[in-house]
Amino acid sequence: MIEASDICKSFDGNKVLKGISFEVKKGEVVAIIGPSGSGKSTLLRCINLLEKIDSGKITVEDEIMVSTNEAGRAIYADRKSLRKIRLKIGLVFQNFNLFPHYSVLKNITEAPVSVAGINKEEANKIAHELLVKMGLEDKANAYPCNLSGGQCQRVAIARALALNPDVLFFDEPTSALDPELTLEVLKVIRKLAQEHMTMVVVTHEMNFAREVADRVIFMDNGVIVEEGTPEEVFSNPVNERTKLFIKGFE
Ligand code: ADP
Ligand code: MG
Repeated sequence: MIEASDICKSFDGNKVLKGISFEVKKGEVVAIIGPSGSGKSTLLRCINLLEKIDSGKITVEDEIMVSTNEAGRAIYADRKSLRKIRLKIGLVFQNFNLFPHYSVLKNITEAPVSVAGINKEEANKIAHELLVKMGLEDKANAYPCNLSGGQCQRVAIARALALNPDVLFFDEPTSALDPELTLEVLKVIRKLAQEHMTMVVVTHEMNFAREVADRVIFMDNGVIVEEGTPEEVFSNPVNERTKLFIKGFE
């Protein structure tokens, strides 16, 4: 589904991604773990076109999003192709990023109507189905300020799903939540995994990663240090940095 190779990204001369290569297969759940500042969010943002890479190559469903020319410069696909690719990837942030002045329903239908050109009736129908799925069927007319953090995050997940993405990215979806609210959000993500939704989840929830992920990637200081099945990475880490990091959560 997604193939990234040798991604490099700097901010003001500070190398944040130092040649990252990885792939995501259809139906797979990939967990990305690693210390704060290791470049996890930047990696997601680069694949999601919120940041531009300096060099490397990213392919989404066999369509080249960006590649690097002989002079070492990143060359992006044309705007129309990028728009299409972007719609394939849903993103859920740590802080929900809901529109505070929109109802729950409007938060979910806004992009389908104004970006994807779906008619309002159809968008409302999809939104209601998603709210049922998220256990929020009675919240369509509520405003974000009247919801718990866990409810907000489930609205944000519904909003991402409303565009019918082929893959969902989560950037620390539970880091802003209390343990109890964390569980209700993880439950929803687990359910999506059971439905074989392709997902990339940056998380500090090690038990969750261990249980739900097909593959775990450990990042540190802009590189992928170790990658494998949850069993390999959590029970038999090879790299010293991975061992130390995981030990910190025990
Ligand atoms: P993580 O998500 O793993 O905590 P980030 O990708 O957020 O890491 O950040 C990696 C590094 O890049 C950090 O040192 C951070 O300060 C830096 N960084 C991230 N975004 C920006 C930005 N927009 N401008 C400058 N530096 C940034
Ligand atoms: Mg981050």
